[in-house]
Amino acid sequence: MDWHFDNSYVRDLPGTYVAQAPARVPAPKLLILNEDLARELRLDPVALRESAAEVLSGNRPPPGAEPVAQAYAGHQFGGFSPQLGDGRALLLGELIDRHGQRRDIALKGSGPTPFSRRGDGLAAIGPVLREYLMGEAMAALRVPTSRALAAVATGRQVLRDRAVPGAVLTRVAASHLRIGTFEFFAARGQSDQVRALADYAIARHHPQAAGAENRYLALFDAVIAVQARLVAQWMGLGFIHGVMNTDNMTISGETIDYGPCAFMEGYSPGTVFSSIDHQGRYAYGNQPLILGWNLARLAETLVPLFDTSEARAIELANERLAGIAGCYRAEWLAVMRAKLGLAEAAEGDAALVEEFLAALTGTDWTLGFRRLARAEGPDSLRGLWAEPEALARWWPGWLARRAPDAAARMETANPIYIPRNQRVEEALAAAEAGQMAPFLRLLEVLADPYVERPGLEAWALPAPQEFAGQFRTFCGT
Ligand code: AMP
Ligand code: MG
Repeated sequence: MDWHFDNSYVRDLPGTYVAQAPARVPAPKLLILNEDLARELRLDPVALRESAAEVLSGNRPPPGAEPVAQAYAGHQFGGFSPQLGDGRALLLGELIDRHGQRRDIALKGSGPTPFSRRGDGLAAIGPVLREYLMGEAMAALRVPTSRALAAVATGRQVLRDRAVPGAVLTRVAASHLRIGTFEFFAARGQSDQVRALADYAIARHHPQAAGAENRYLALFDAVIAVQARLVAQWMGLGFIHGVMNTDNMTISGETIDYGPCAFMEGYSPGTVFSSIDHQGRYAYGNQPLILGWNLARLAETLVPLFDTSEARAIELANERLAGIAGCYRAEWLAVMRAKLGLAEAAEGDAALVEEFLAALTGTDWTLGFRRLARAEGPDSLRGLWAEPEALARWWPGWLARRAPDAAARMETANPIYIPRNQRVEEALAAAEAGQMAPFLRLLEVLADPYVERPGLEAWALPAPQEFAGQFRTFCGT
């Protein structure tokens, strides 16, 4: 089977990775193959299905692949780790897809690398399928994201809090360049590598920056723009990434690393699911602040490229950093206007949104917005709403502002189906026990999240309080 690899990262950025072959696995079995994505990548789905277990387990890497572990550092929960890197992942190479876009093909859970530290380099089936599902759901929700091409069970047990079946995920991303990739080389004083990475990032992700008077500043502006838009989209969906460390924030503006992420049900800005996020650093409402904090870490790596005068370079960086909050706010307001069916921007929109959010407190985020679209009046939402009086007070102001075709607009902006925590957990538990059917069903429901379909009521509902109150997520794949 022809894979048409073209590996620009390995070719253009020597010194930023270590060659590493995947580990052999005893009994690979294909769990799921994403045929639509295969076609998008110009791969033959039929031939791929035949070879996937061997090829995408890492047992027989595809022709033209040059497996490498990429170096990166990162600020984790605010503290700097100078050496992280691919400890359980390998970049196989890149394919040019149907749209002419260059996409990374990577394995996750493919064995130890020089960056594994104390980890085993492996991944368990539950978290692999969780990442598969979340990425596909986010793509259907029109959020820039890494995707999943396949999941292969390895036939090998991995040791977590107990022995669980191992698996390998094939991840597809615009690239795996992270803020942490820049930090790795900046922290070592390897300024030539930082420049090479910046040039590579411009060529691959932000080519409009190449023609700018100050290309590196233009690169930084472009990363601010894509990341601000991304976080605004997360906020619109009630998505909590859960581990917004700088090694998990991409230069392309795609969501990557679906570890402890989850969708909020009852709205509360302090919502945290991750079992290790004790301080709530990555709580729902903190994500916009962390966006800016992370971008400041990127700025620190790029400052020497902004200007030959250090003082001037810092001044330029600070100007940009001061603009992030406003840039994010504009993206967020655009998202929220669409969600509330406001056709044009007007003075007072921000206040209208803020007041709505206050009135939404305690109500299911997704259903709150969705059911607003066709509600006759605030009274018709009493059964759903936690604070019906607040909603009733807000209503007249919204009526006066919303577009004539607000209902239809809002249904294209507010999904009815999201990966509900309880549904996800049930599907993963079944898959771990060898039953893929609930997972496949959930995936199918989430592939079309904006169109309400009869018979799928159970997928639209939040979990009962007994489940929601104790739901926690975990990091390790
Ligand atoms: P993550 O939490 O997935 O963003 O990973 C943070 C860092 O820990 C990365 O450098 C990973 O490669 C590494 N890591 C996480 N789990 C493992 C594992 N099981 N084996 C080796 N490295 C790991
Ligand atoms: Mg990571």
